Amino acid sequence: MIIDAKRVGIGEQGEPATLNNLASDLNKELFAKHIFNALLSDAISVNRSLPDVRPRECKTKLYLKKLPMVSIIVIFFNEHKSVLLRSVHSLINRSPPELVKEIILVDDFSDLDSLHKSLDDYIAQHFTKVRILRLNERSGLIRARMAGARIAKAEVLVFMDSHIEAGYNWLPPLLEPIVLNSRTVMGPTIDFINGTQFFYGKYDYGMRGIFDFSLRYLKTSRLPEDQKHPSEPFKNLIMMGGSVVISAKFFWELGGYDEGLDIYGGEQFDLSFKIWMCGGQLYEAPCSRVAHLSRSSHLHLYNTKNVTVTKYIYRNYKRVAEVWMDDYKKYVSMRMGSSYRRANPGDLTLARALRSKCKPFKWFLQNVAYDVMKRFPPIKPPNYAYGAIRNVAEPDMCVDAHPITNGNHVDLEQCAEAVPQSNSSQFWELTAYRDLRLASKDFCLEVRAPQYITSLWIWRCHYQGRNQYWLYDFQAKLLKQVFKNTTRCLEMLPHTKQLIINQCNSSNRYMQWTFSFNNPNALGNNQNNYSIQSA
Ligand code: UDP
Ligand code: MN
Repeated sequence: MIIDAKRVGIGEQGEPATLNNLASDLNKELFAKHIFNALLSDAISVNRSLPDVRPRECKTKLYLKKLPMVSIIVIFFNEHKSVLLRSVHSLINRSPPELVKEIILVDDFSDLDSLHKSLDDYIAQHFTKVRILRLNERSGLIRARMAGARIAKAEVLVFMDSHIEAGYNWLPPLLEPIVLNSRTVMGPTIDFINGTQFFYGKYDYGMRGIFDFSLRYLKTSRLPEDQKHPSEPFKNLIMMGGSVVISAKFFWELGGYDEGLDIYGGEQFDLSFKIWMCGGQLYEAPCSRVAHLSRSSHLHLYNTKNVTVTKYIYRNYKRVAEVWMDDYKKYVSMRMGSSYRRANPGDLTLARALRSKCKPFKWFLQNVAYDVMKRFPPIKPPNYAYGAIRNVAEPDMCVDAHPITNGNHVDLEQCAEAVPQSNSSQFWELTAYRDLRLASKDFCLEVRAPQYITSLWIWRCHYQGRNQYWLYDFQAKLLKQVFKNTTRCLEMLPHTKQLIINQCNSSNRYMQWTFSFNNPNALGNNQNNYSIQSA
């Protein structure tokens, strides 16, 4: 840490970095291949320093003197070499050497030249504990992990994505709980590396993973009892998937991952359900930080053998639901649509045999995931209102979040003709959770800044009310944002077509809005007739 603190240079300390030749053809070509700034990665040291973002208490925390050794399994398919190497160097540099037995790189049949001889040579020159297992055919991430696990020699297995950077002292906080109970499975808090500038981004203290009946992995605040001690491990319903630490013995008792899961998708549910329902428990340790390179929409890179990645995902989700969710699988089927219903989950015999020793899904919902049914009722309660949100003074103007990405600014645009498609950036739902949601995504209209008059953006729905809490006064046509005892109203600024919230004024027609569809029963009933409460 002392040596790292003195490092200077491009991307050091996890600072944003840029290159001069951003527009070069090579840069564009590499960006298209990886969906991150691969050329910039080449300019940043594979040993770069990172900020220490752990909660303060972590820095003085003591751990058991004797901890088990780990085998770290890093799987990759066509990973950019410098990104892969930075992952490996960070794992070596930031782990107590006596705890790392080996790092196994599993090559899932990559075809990039840079990942063959030159990678072998680099590893031979720089490392003693790192070896490569080359698969003879494309197996997908699940079977690649299983192949790595089969040859691993240490007592504890660590699964890692190939584009991570491990933080200071990341390993002991993950191992201690496993020593205390070998059926505890751990994950670090996952921070992010920005794909364009490679800066380090921190997620505050970690969030609890949760799911809904569309098998979406969502993040929510920690339970109130877990918020009292922000640096202690807390129970996680669903793991993020990219970094898992598990006792090898327990992993094999569970039968490992379901190897019927092909290419990509579903494995985080498979393993999380399995852990909870078959006698284990899943925790996240906020004192352990691992940053994951974040990319938007790169999954098309996994289309293979003329099959799109979405098809693999549907098939895998269906496997998970068929094997683990008992009667509740019908809700998944109802919500997922026809591609899911048509998917063939393959032979389930082995997976079901392993599962038969475990507890019912109902037990899991009642005892572990006890807030899922309440927060994400499988049959969605009706919306208060939905469709396009038009301005009354200028009825051609609609609230528009294009393009639909987290943190995108929301303003007004020309309304789509008729009612917009449900996947459009103009199709909003005022939901039973009292948030204003883009129908196709889990993004919500959110107040951006603490100022009284401020603009709006979309952010992941957090289901907690607050800066995402909206009421529609359908008689006055006001859309009210209620936050900390302050009520403000949505307003269009006519000259700039900007959207803001401001002091409510029911005679200002630029503050009046209509939805394509209203649910007058719900809206008229003091908007209080649903059981879902804003926390
Ligand atoms: N991966 C693999 N084979 C595949 C697809 C993915 O080995 O067919 C690897 C990939 O290189 C990465 C990990 O699996 O190390 C997880 O994939 P990715 O990071 O794309 O998933 P995400 O983190 O975006 O969910
Ligand atoms: Mn990843």
